Amino acid sequence: MTDQLAYVITGRRTISPVDAADVSEVLPDHVVVEIAYTGICGSDVHAYEIGFPYHPTLSGHEWSGTVIGVGADVTGLEVGQRVARTSQPPCGRCVMCQAGHHARCENYTISSLPTAPPHGGYTPKLAVPARSVIALPDSVSLEQGALVEPLTVALHAVRRRQPRLGDTVVVIGAGLIGLATMQFAKLAGATEVVMVARGEDRRDLAARLGATTVLDPADPQLASEIQALTGGRGVDIAYECAGNAQAIQSATTLLRPGGTLMLVGTPFAPVELIPAMWMAKELDVQTTLAHNRWEFDITVDLLAKGLLRTDGMTDSVRGLSELADVFDELSGGAKAIKTLIDPRE
Ligand SMILES: [Zn+2]
Ligand SMILES: [Zn+2]
Repeated sequence: MTDQLAYVITGRRTISPVDAADVSEVLPDHVVVEIAYTGICGSDVHAYEIGFPYHPTLSGHEWSGTVIGVGADVTGLEVGQRVARTSQPPCGRCVMCQAGHHARCENYTISSLPTAPPHGGYTPKLAVPARSVIALPDSVSLEQGALVEPLTVALHAVRRRQPRLGDTVVVIGAGLIGLATMQFAKLAGATEVVMVARGEDRRDLAARLGATTVLDPADPQLASEIQALTGGRGVDIAYECAGNAQAIQSATTLLRPGGTLMLVGTPFAPVELIPAMWMAKELDVQTTLAHNRWEFDITVDLLAKGLLRTDGMTDSVRGLSELADVFDELSGGAKAIKTLIDPRE
């Protein structure tokens, strides 16, 4: 028993306080982290809406904080160090790992940590295996640290299908992952990076963060503007980061024959699509899932070097006691890029 509470999604539109896991004794391979910020993930809001009993550790999986306890066997981390949450490295034991496909490790999921606490980062303190955190250099803030996990989702998507030098790409959807995908595509060599986004404020932000052209998905001239930008061919790669059928159809229209449709925002519900349109252009249709452990190092390095920017991505910081209200707001359609919860408030 502890006197600390953690908040978990326990059912449809229900967030319940539970006793936080005891952190008074640190396991030999664990660290205890005092949480600074926990980002609310779209998947958390989805779990809240449908009441699907996600493994509780999935809720509140985007956090940063300061190490306040270090297990006896842990090397390379010390009390006072600022860290962000990652996932664990490949297990090395499953069928895929043994076949040499470490990036396909069957145990690489957030909830699979064998000793994970029964809750995520919506709590003041958390004990986790030391290998599941990454140290933050001085130039990366704790607020940025809480964004490292979703930023790495975008990094993984671009590394799955990287633009070639001189390519033209379109990114549909200017949420956090879309805004990061746009920046990574540019860093990877795309010369023209078009952001298609609803809302003038999002388009302005995308332009400030480096999009070479910003367009409104509702613009009837959208397709002809893209044609004009690409000499009539269409874009080489479309990263769909909106997660709806309309965006997938739009991406299909904007691509050149032989281009790549990368589904980053993939809808979970059944949607109506016309795959024959993919065939007509002989598109490569690709998907992407989460990230690999080693990609977190790249994200943090790009943040530290100032090559990946996060200004404007955090809308608000709220206290833990407001968690249920914040979920109601986000579920009600509040247009937030990323809301952070600060359990210290
Ligand atoms: Zn997430
Ligand atoms: Zn494995």
